[in-house]
Amino acid sequence: MTKKELIKIAFKEIDANRDKIIHFAESINREPEVGFQEIKTAAKVKAAFAGLCIKYQSDLAITGVRGMLAGGKEGPTLAVLAELDAIINRDHPLADKESGAAHGCGHFAQLAQLIAAAYGLKAIMKELSGRVVLFAVPAEEFINLEFREGLKSEGRIKYFGGKQELIRRGEFDNIDLVFMQHAQSDYPGRKAYISAGSNGFIGKSVRFIGRAAHAGAAPFKGINALNAFNIALTAIHAQRETFKDQDMVRVHPVITKGGDSVNTVPSEIKVELYVRARTIEAVKEVSFKVDRALKAGAMAVGAQVEITNIPGYLPVENNEKLRRIWEDNAAKLLGKENILSVGARSSSTDMGDLTQIKPGIHPYVGSFSGDLHSKDFKVADEEMSYLISAKISLLTIIDLLYDGALKAKEIIADFQPNLSKEEYLDLLDSLTYHTRWEYKS
Ligand SMILES: [Zn+2]
Ligand SMILES: [Zn+2]
Repeated sequence: MTKKELIKIAFKEIDANRDKIIHFAESINREPEVGFQEIKTAAKVKAAFAGLCIKYQSDLAITGVRGMLAGGKEGPTLAVLAELDAIINRDHPLADKESGAAHGCGHFAQLAQLIAAAYGLKAIMKELSGRVVLFAVPAEEFINLEFREGLKSEGRIKYFGGKQELIRRGEFDNIDLVFMQHAQSDYPGRKAYISAGSNGFIGKSVRFIGRAAHAGAAPFKGINALNAFNIALTAIHAQRETFKDQDMVRVHPVITKGGDSVNTVPSEIKVELYVRARTIEAVKEVSFKVDRALKAGAMAVGAQVEITNIPGYLPVENNEKLRRIWEDNAAKLLGKENILSVGARSSSTDMGDLTQIKPGIHPYVGSFSGDLHSKDFKVADEEMSYLISAKISLLTIIDLLYDGALKAKEIIADFQPNLSKEEYLDLLDSLTYHTRWEYKS
């Protein structure tokens, strides 16, 4: 069959199942769940796969679900990813009353696109070479750190990101290419883009330990941990002029415990912060400076500081060849003028981790309105957000796996990973540390 014929059949399948796809999207949007707890969401994905007679594995990294479609001939394996989780935003109109979970990042649209693409692929897969893994992955949002610490101490996860954990467990070992599409509201209307990449980050959980004393009667007997952090914060700000523009550094702390009672010298201050930057090297360099600043604050007042470093996500490196194929296909459906060229983003995703070890892309599609992660982020155009986006995905898959999967094979042959899986896991482990510091003369 010609490519044109395949596309016609696949698109017809998507259109014929339009109502089911939209209903599926809305059902997930209405029952948001946060990372590693996406039980109902995963059940809906499993039910959709079962309805399509697609074999799947489930409970991968706790909630992940992976469907598989085999082509008529042997060839490479392409994974199409969709994220299961929501964020926490209690103000969101569809927020879960108890957990505060809400789909403020639009991941429900990714899942709808995955199932829509499955309808199309199912009808034409025998004409393609290789395999398509339809992978609903858990926990993209790096949140609920205390809950994830709990999972870690129970031995249920080692890393806090769903894709990180799936990589560690070998769930991507037999996958050659990775691809997903994320919702966007940056540009109104039917527009799509691949950014030049995105930041990586690490998280820090920091504790300043001083000594309590009566704040009025005997502050000279105390060690003020709040003052230690105040100096540390100023010291962090003093680093900012050393950050290079091209590294797109972001350092953003919050105080999660600021003292106990106003008449007592604060003896314990807790802080969480992220260090984000465009390259792994820059993240490490700035992390070192931030640690130095934290220690300077402790040193100045004679406090102690505990720093727990948690590896966050690595920068996204979009594969150039895959990018061009996706852009061409997006242009076929949206018009060339609606495929935008956009600079690197300073936000982060664990898709970055995958693009360091596999050829992959992380484009933005859809027609959402409102700001990402805000209560107003919602679908503005169902057709675009679910169906046309799924068709872009489908065209890309067909392009890669048609004609003996020639294009996929070319990309795989050319790909030079930044890191091997082993180097990647070693890197995450090297970024994981706990230190307690105090000045000794
Ligand atoms: Zn998000
Ligand atoms: Zn997201």
